[in-house]
Amino acid sequence: MLHYNYCTTTRAVHAAVAFLRGSPRLLLDTEGKEIGTTEGCLSIISVGTLNAEYIFLFDVSALTTPQEMKRGGLQPLLRLLSDPKYLKVVWDGRQDYFELREMFGCKMVNVLDLQIVELVSRWEVRGEGEAERRIRLEKFFGKASVWSEPERFDGLHLLCGMQRCVEENNLQVDGKDPTVRKLYKEGGGSGIWMARPIPDVLLHYAATDIDLIAQLYQHFWLCGWMNLDNTDAYLAKSRRYLETRAALGRVVKGDVFQQSPVVAEEAFDTAVHPWSRTGYVECSGCHLHLPPRRFEPSTGTSGGLRRVLCSRCVSIALKRGVQKRARDSWVPFTQMFEQRYLP
Ligand SMILES: [Zn+2]
Repeated sequence: MLHYNYCTTTRAVHAAVAFLRGSPRLLLDTEGKEIGTTEGCLSIISVGTLNAEYIFLFDVSALTTPQEMKRGGLQPLLRLLSDPKYLKVVWDGRQDYFELREMFGCKMVNVLDLQIVELVSRWEVRGEGEAERRIRLEKFFGKASVWSEPERFDGLHLLCGMQRCVEENNLQVDGKDPTVRKLYKEGGGSGIWMARPIPDVLLHYAATDIDLIAQLYQHFWLCGWMNLDNTDAYLAKSRRYLETRAALGRVVKGDVFQQSPVVAEEAFDTAVHPWSRTGYVECSGCHLHLPPRRFEPSTGTSGGLRRVLCSRCVSIALKRGVQKRARDSWVPFTQMFEQRYLP
């Protein structure tokens, strides 16, 4: 049975942070309503010691009342998280990183994203090549499109979710409580995190995520996906991954281009640059600034035209049929991607 401390007062925050400062590596996760979107709101910040022996769940609502803020509220914790001496280990920390920065101005440094470790280790450590990359992409886009138009999938990778990674690696962990799934369904989604008092089952769920991160981190070291030689490269890629996401600001809830398990290498690879450079073009789907080769040129008489969506977003649009969804002003599918490209 997992143990955790639920912190709702500044006093409890001080005690927890004093304790956590003894652990140079911390596990971090957040819970909340639609985090990262225009409706986003944090509910819980979960922090654990390296092997998840100690887990602290900080109640954001309770600690941001005027009374608690006067006493310091979350400040000791935020100072800890922005302290470069401490390594923060996350799994897909993109929204966590963004919300902490957006809500509290807390800029975390020295963050290792295990989702990036899982991804990059495929070719850096595990010897996966082009065929394996496409086989993974098939799971999302279907076999036919991946192999018939391979150029559209250049530089794309299928991300792995935390639960899936736990299952694929046969890790022995407390499974996620099915009653939480039921709560999500009945409570209309992630809004359940905002109610107070917060049900024990949700606190336990938040603590379980920290335990999963602990297990994965240990496993990645044990199986050699992480070692002393590649940690710095993972850290640099994690940083690029988190900052690329944060630079986009709040995204619209349900935005298919942001909420997709497919990532372009520009979003994490430090060898390529995701932001404005001469000749780079902003994709109107994912809003990354990408090299022109990521935008399919039109053929025929209308030379000089390119799609306004990058190849990743075109593939997602085709899969999701998003031309039917009103987002900005959609034009008929045949024209929707086209825009004059000025080199
Ligand atoms: Zn795009």
